[in-house]
Amino acid sequence: MKIDVVTVFPEYLSPLDLSLIGRARQRGLIDLDVHDLRRWTHDVHHSVDGAPAGGGAGMVMKPQPWGECLDELVPGEDRPRLLVTSPAGRPFTQAMAHELAAEPWLLFACGRYEGIDQRVVDHASSRMEVTEVSIGDYVLFGGEVAVLAIVEAVARLVPGVLGNAASLDDESHNAGLLEAPAYTRPAEWRGHEIPPVLLSGDHGKVDRWRREQALLRTARARPDLLERLEAGSLDKRDRLL
Ligand code: SAM
Repeated sequence: MKIDVVTVFPEYLSPLDLSLIGRARQRGLIDLDVHDLRRWTHDVHHSVDGAPAGGGAGMVMKPQPWGECLDELVPGEDRPRLLVTSPAGRPFTQAMAHELAAEPWLLFACGRYEGIDQRVVDHASSRMEVTEVSIGDYVLFGGEVAVLAIVEAVARLVPGVLGNAASLDDESHNAGLLEAPAYTRPAEWRGHEIPPVLLSGDHGKVDRWRREQALLRTARARPDLLERLEAGSLDKRDRLL
């Protein structure tokens, strides 16, 4: 998978050199480049922002550097999926992470200030698929943290990135439920014990316990997820809970 990120703070993306994503890059599973938007400015101050049309507080990112940047990064017939970070965008979810993990090329645009001139999105939409994407109902200073979160969620779904792909199966949000709580040794720690069933060696019982814990945890923390669960994904024993 190819990933490009455009930002005015390339250093903000340096965590993408670390840990499993850094290793996936070294192994060639992810080809990731970070670009400084100021490369496409022509004035001595490398300015990327201007006063908002119609007045008001703050500054808006100018369309010119973004336009030239997209022209250079996307010169030919191959088109990326352009993801423009915005608190006004489509909510990012695990389902969307799966959708993006199936794309061969993602190009992320990090906004700053009051955001990017809307004509950048409107114009790019005539050349490629564009999605404005939000990581939650709150406002950040810029899109870089959103890109870190999205790239991390997407990269771990790329085949080969995770050592054990089976760990994705029961994860929170993959099957509509939150995952059951996890434990490791010692069996007793500060007066708290690992639930005995997990030490029983009975895999059937362990699976059942995890399923019940997942349902209980979801009911307590995220009843909205339970309401959205398809009836077919519950079995008879679930209904007895
Ligand atoms: N004026 C904009 C609004 O009210 O919708 C907010 C601009 S915000 C201060 C600056 C930039 O941060 C945005 O252009 C976007 O790139 C990024 N950003 C802020 N919150 C975000 C969120 N929840 N999800 C994704 N990106 C976000």
